[in-house]
Amino acid sequence: MELEGKIAVVTGAGSGIGRASSLQMAKNGAKVVAVDFNKETGEETLKLIEEQGGEGIFVQADVSKSKDVEHFVNAAVDTFGRIDVFFNNAGVIQKFSLLGDVEEAEFDRLVSVNIKGVFLGLKHVLKVMEQQGSGSIINTASTAGIRSEHSASVYSATKHAVVGLTKSAAMEYIKKGIRVNAICPGGVQTSLTKSVEEQFTSGGYVPEEVANMRIGRYAQPEELAEMVSFLASDRASYVVGSVVVVDGGLTI
Ligand code: ADP
Repeated sequence: MELEGKIAVVTGAGSGIGRASSLQMAKNGAKVVAVDFNKETGEETLKLIEEQGGEGIFVQADVSKSKDVEHFVNAAVDTFGRIDVFFNNAGVIQKFSLLGDVEEAEFDRLVSVNIKGVFLGLKHVLKVMEQQGSGSIINTASTAGIRSEHSASVYSATKHAVVGLTKSAAMEYIKKGIRVNAICPGGVQTSLTKSVEEQFTSGGYVPEEVANMRIGRYAQPEELAEMVSFLASDRASYVVGSVVVVDGGLTI
């Protein structure tokens, strides 16, 4: 198994891509530290891992809080001794509106989870991996991180920031044996896209690309998890600082 013996920390493990990736990596041999601020869904993910014969722990944490991030990093090291894989995934989506109508509080919320949360995770996990001299980090960006997204300007800005952090971290840490990459999902069938669909049906702007998704459907979270598990593994040994688009042709 390609992740046999590896310790994988996953944020946003309670649902969607985070849950599917936790299950996939556990299936491939990793022990998983499932992190989410939602205790119920996070513990459910751990239960699902154990049901398929895997091993792990759940840690409740808000990725936008420094103390919480230190807490889950320490919990991983105290329990398993190391961190080989970090899927830096927790994120929130914007309430769709034109830029001029975005509330300041909404801007702060998106920046604190999507940028500060990703930064804090990188900061603390890189320290651990630097001592080990090895590790693989995957950040969740978005197709909105490589082009504009109508009515989601601030979300798009935060995901561009994730791409920036990914490239900088990759450049600074590759000589220390740490690979940092990002994935860019397009439309994924999760609770998050359900709320997007609700916004559409309640009269919001429907981007043409979503209405005409090239492959004709949203991705299942498992289709993203395949890429996460690959990037996590030594099979991706030459993939460094890449921003990997997995979008069913959305951005063709
Ligand atoms: P997707 O899988 O498409 O990224 P989801 O909404 O299904 O979207 O998953 C996002 C996960 O991230 C949820 O489980 C949510 O509870 C978690 N999450 C969101 N914000 C935070 C946060 N600040 N700290 C920890 N987990 C968070």
